[in-house]
Amino acid sequence: MTITSLPSTTATPAGPAAGPGPRAPGSWTPGSWRALPAAQQPDWPDTEALQRVENALALQPPLVLPDEIMGLRGALAGVAAGRGFLLQAGDCAERFTSCTEAGVRSKLRVILQVAVLLTYGSGLPVVKVGRIAGQFGKPRSSPTEVADGLELPTYRGDIVNAPEFTAEARRPDPDRMLRAYHHSSAALNVLRALTLGGYADLGQAHGWNQEFVRRSAAGRRYERAADDVGWALRFMSACGVDTRAQAALHQIQLYTSHEALLPHYEQALTRYDEHRRTWFDTSAHMLWIGDRTRRPDGAHVELLSGVGNPVGVKVGPGTTPAGLRELCERLDPAREPGRLVLITRLGVGRAAELLPSLLHAVRSTGHNPVWACDPMHGNTFVSESGYKTRRLGDITAEIGEFFAVHREEGTHPGGIHLELTGDDVTECLGGDLEEIVDRHLGTRYETACDPRLNAVQSIELAFGVADLLRA
Ligand code: PEP
Ligand code: MN
Repeated sequence: MTITSLPSTTATPAGPAAGPGPRAPGSWTPGSWRALPAAQQPDWPDTEALQRVENALALQPPLVLPDEIMGLRGALAGVAAGRGFLLQAGDCAERFTSCTEAGVRSKLRVILQVAVLLTYGSGLPVVKVGRIAGQFGKPRSSPTEVADGLELPTYRGDIVNAPEFTAEARRPDPDRMLRAYHHSSAALNVLRALTLGGYADLGQAHGWNQEFVRRSAAGRRYERAADDVGWALRFMSACGVDTRAQAALHQIQLYTSHEALLPHYEQALTRYDEHRRTWFDTSAHMLWIGDRTRRPDGAHVELLSGVGNPVGVKVGPGTTPAGLRELCERLDPAREPGRLVLITRLGVGRAAELLPSLLHAVRSTGHNPVWACDPMHGNTFVSESGYKTRRLGDITAEIGEFFAVHREEGTHPGGIHLELTGDDVTECLGGDLEEIVDRHLGTRYETACDPRLNAVQSIELAFGVADLLRA
């Protein structure tokens, strides 16, 4: 396979010379987004430095290859057809400092635990996609933040600036995009070694359970499920199935994904595959467009409309049926299986109210996306003690509503999208025996952005979703 690097991102930006507006069919180029409004962009202080970074990125090797991306497309086509379930999960915002072996292993471990519970509970193949190896950019509700009479730009993720509240740290620095590329590459390297080198072996399911998880009721229940999986493997082997020869039992494919927030970065990693005659964004297998950047005539939608990757769109409560139809048309005009993942994040109580008309709108256009539920972003609030948090009860309730509406409408509840961590953090409220209440939040509140489920809460949630899948 030949992948051609973007010839150059210098000189005049590609794309229509006219101002914002709908593009003519067939006029897409990797740079055509530049003529359109791009929401949530940092105020890059130095355009020369930005240009230099784009050129340097365009010379770097792709992080993922078209064959892998098409593998995910195939797997998602199966999910859209009702023959699988998508688990997309990871940090809200990765930090450069967490791209270590321990950091990657810890996230992989909890994703594997949730995945094995979903697979074992449902009997369906689970397509695993991490918010990992590139999830560094964050949309924010306000461009600036005020403290002690000082107004500074908000923290937009490690790919843009640093979280410390000083003018120096908050200044957007284009060089951080290059650092993000190298950290993604290092994280991917560890991820590939772990997923292919035996760590993800189903026979190791007990080993993924950390000590602090084992002490919880959910962790003990997990131990029993891991025993069952062990028995199933021994049963297959006793029946004469050579389990040692089954690569699927010893290795897993964990695909990568992140929000395609910074089009300069994404364009520089967009490469032409001559074999397929298609452009691919090689920064991750799957990219998604956030709820704040999904306007159909905006830069983010334009950029991803022209690449062959699976594309996700966050669908918040402000999405109208007509707006969603337009997005589907822009992003998936050919109605290709496995291309589109619509990730609803409506909030508990709102899903039952808003989801049916969105499902009808999409069905009427002939699109067949994967429907996934992000039960995190519609359920965020500030607790009395001042921490941004979410209740595990709200999260599971929104997933319940999502399943109920899809079952009622005859569509496939195709996946969940979670913010979680393998670490023993106290960021979301609730959970079994060791319930986290407001006064615990400050103990280990470590997230760089939104509150994540800890490993115990994630496992508890997985048991609930497995029950829904089986019902
Ligand atoms: C996110 O996934 O971290 C996020 C910001 O989501 P949304 O675009 O749905 O608000
Ligand atoms: Mn988030």
